[in-house]
Amino acid sequence: MSRRPPGPRPSDPQANAQPGAPLPAPELTEGQCRRCGTHIAGLDGRYACGVCGWVNDHSEGHRRLPRADEDPDRPPAGRRRPRPLPAPPPPAGPEPGPRPAA
Ligand SMILES: [Zn+2]
Repeated sequence: MSRRPPGPRPSDPQANAQPGAPLPAPELTEGQCRRCGTHIAGLDGRYACGVCGWVNDHSEGHRRLPRADEDPDRPPAGRRRPRPLPAPPPPAGPEPGPRPAA
């Protein structure tokens, strides 16, 4: 059975606070792009305009940014990202042309 039971999803942003989480969830804020004037939304006063690409400085945010050790998604200590492959696989050679029908 692959059906999901109907009901509230656990990913409700309002129910995002985890016990022991040092920082509350960021607050949705609205403002205006200082370059093109588009009405934009951001988090905690930090904005990025999707029209012209303008972004304000992170220091203009209403709250400080979480540190790396406050990130709940941070991988455990001592564990590193897997290293990238040393070299990409060799490119496939030119496709052989269609064989002449005998
Ligand atoms: Zn803009």
